[in-house]
Amino acid sequence: MLYGRPLAPPPAAPNMSKINLLNLTPADANATLEAFFRDRGEPAYRARQVARRLWQAPVRSFADITDLPAALRDALEQSFEIPSLLISTQQISADGTRKFLFRLADGEAIETVSIPDADRMTLCISSQAGCALQCAFCATGKMGFTRNLEAYEIAAQVRELLLLDPPIAATNIVFMGMGEPLMNWRAVDLALTILNDPAGLGIGARHITVSTVGILPGIVALGERPEQFRLAISVHAPTDELRRGLMPINTKYPLADVIEAAKSFDRRVTFEYVMLGGINDRPEDVVQLARLAQECKAFVNLIPLHPGGAGDFTPTTADGIRRFSASLRRSGISVAIRKSRGKDIAAACGQLRVERHRRRRPIAAEYDGGVEVA
Ligand code: SAH
Repeated sequence: MLYGRPLAPPPAAPNMSKINLLNLTPADANATLEAFFRDRGEPAYRARQVARRLWQAPVRSFADITDLPAALRDALEQSFEIPSLLISTQQISADGTRKFLFRLADGEAIETVSIPDADRMTLCISSQAGCALQCAFCATGKMGFTRNLEAYEIAAQVRELLLLDPPIAATNIVFMGMGEPLMNWRAVDLALTILNDPAGLGIGARHITVSTVGILPGIVALGERPEQFRLAISVHAPTDELRRGLMPINTKYPLADVIEAAKSFDRRVTFEYVMLGGINDRPEDVVQLARLAQECKAFVNLIPLHPGGAGDFTPTTADGIRRFSASLRRSGISVAIRKSRGKDIAAACGQLRVERHRRRRPIAAEYDGGVEVA
């Protein structure tokens, strides 16, 4: 179901003279507020009163902090901002998956998908507007890269859904929306803190997964964080020759180096493997993939190809995926087949943005494949 609201004007651009409280760690935001209230001779508890409205019990504006005297709300308004991302479109699938298109202050559009499953609510979030990596089967890659998101724009995807009525409260986060998170490490690093900090969104590190094509310095940086954030690597092919053809980044970061990085990561890694009929689902592929997964003690997630704009690729049949999976399991590999969700709304990142933008200006490429999450 498509809510056909016209594309809304972009929200007001962040004001450079005001401090954006959402682009700070919760500790820094709290310290900033403490200093602000101290300067005004206000008691220290005021800072906590405001800080908890950033992420824990969020409000849209200072005016909504009604337990604060109006004069203080006005004073906050003069010095700080808590910018919104505007939901310009949303789609709801029969299976409860919802897909949101957010408009950023500069008019850029990014996507977020919420996926309910039993008592979990997984949010698939974006880290960049577009993507530079050009993986052959991915819709976002065909858009090209526009810009990195700022930390607050990443974390605010989660915040905005908390502000809905009724709220959508994430229990799990996957960086599997638009963009390559480890090519935007500075912002992702801060966003991870905001997502995980109990004074921020309070989502357990083990419930936050960063998915990457294998950007080596980023994997090292993620591994150096003390929290147990999870790492998923888009492997998609068990040899350099095959992987190069599917993922141009393999020239810069070849498979062997990515596997080494996965081995040195001190937590268990997940391999993502999108099933491309006749391309990477052959008997020799399963043998080679099993060897790599054994080396890294990796968990393998087999992903049904989201059909459509994935070039000339054909999805491996459901039976084919089951056989591939059984074969990996016989080699001792832990493996899961990712459930396809939101098929009726094409819940593949890249698609909604394309639908909406197509109305504004023509684009060259067909964007109807994309990122499948579950
Ligand atoms: N850039 C990161 C994160 C975003 S993509 C990465 O590549 O890991 C999240 C996952 O969706 C990746 O494994 C990606 O390869 C996969 N994906 C992309 N296009 C897909 C499609 N058409 N069908 C299924 N999965 C796809």
